[in-house]
Amino acid sequence: MSARVLDGAKIRDEIQGELAGEIAALKARGVTPGLAAVLVGENPASQIYVRSKVRACEVLGLYSEKIEWPAFTTTEKLLGLVESLNRRDEIDGILVQLPLPPQVNARLVLEAVDPAKDVDGFHPMNVGRLVSGRPGAVPCTPAGIIEILKRSGIPIAGARAVVVGRSEIVGKPVALLLLHQHATVTICHSRTRDLAAVGREADILVAAMGRAAFVTGDFIQAGATVIDVGINRLTTPEEVRKAFHDPAGPLKQLESKGSVLVGDVQPEDVRKKAGAYTPVPGGVGPLTIAMLMSNTVRAARERRAGGESGTHRLPAAGNA
Ligand code: NDP
Repeated sequence: MSARVLDGAKIRDEIQGELAGEIAALKARGVTPGLAAVLVGENPASQIYVRSKVRACEVLGLYSEKIEWPAFTTTEKLLGLVESLNRRDEIDGILVQLPLPPQVNARLVLEAVDPAKDVDGFHPMNVGRLVSGRPGAVPCTPAGIIEILKRSGIPIAGARAVVVGRSEIVGKPVALLLLHQHATVTICHSRTRDLAAVGREADILVAAMGRAAFVTGDFIQAGATVIDVGINRLTTPEEVRKAFHDPAGPLKQLESKGSVLVGDVQPEDVRKKAGAYTPVPGGVGPLTIAMLMSNTVRAARERRAGGESGTHRLPAAGNA
């Protein structure tokens, strides 16, 4: 039997539908949530991400500003920009698209963002809040993963969760969120011994490594829920043949479109072995933007419309 597909686009629409009501209520009080997206340089993937984020603001009726600066920008100039955005009342969320060019001290820039406007949840203040389970901005992709699991009725409390990847953006925060939801969590990385055996212990397996189709059937417990965070763009027939057992369709796509997307999980294996899984594309990706919108709306509500102090709340812990 084929595994159940966890449709990220459908869950995104659900969340954005709920946000529309909140946005209307804020607007009735004279508050239009505003997001500033800072893009430095010409990284094509970053350009696509920022465009999608600005488009989502437009669809939901949020105010947005795209600030594009050349790749030779200095840390000092960016710090000045962030400071000016911190001071502007109509800007509730500041998003600095990563990666920044190598000459820029990304850490300093991210730390300069007002924690109340840090809609990516990267500021150390919000990281500390996440670790200690206090209300604060939660990084978008990890928050989206929890939404997928909860809204799909996948039990988290008591489940064995294995997260492959320990980045600040995905692996660590998603592991913490799963822990706050009472999963028993194992975090794996490039030095983990016998990764496949650890993976097979998982009721919930989260792959966030950036390695095309690395997680094969051998890593998956029959019936497990598999969340594939990876976005890997394949551009050669060799890469496509390596990633897919039956590469005919993807090879055609490569020929017509110039590239093929694949996650960190082998797509044919996960269909056969898992109980439920997020596809790539169309799984985790749509949630990242939905949670950014959600974080921006909450930041506006809490900063400008008399909401609680701090920015967002952790998703409520519970049995789901
Ligand atoms: P990073 O490169 O920052 O981290 C990758 C992690 O995977 C590291 O912890 C690394 O271990 C681990 N890893 C790499 N290779 C192996 C291996 N062979 N065995 C075990 N662990 C390994 O990546 P990100 O966390 O930023 O992103 C991960 C993936 O998710 C990427 O494909 C990215 O494009 C995608 N992504 C998708 C998003 C979405 O919206 N869907 C949003 C953000 C990211 P170590 O620490 O030991 O080096």
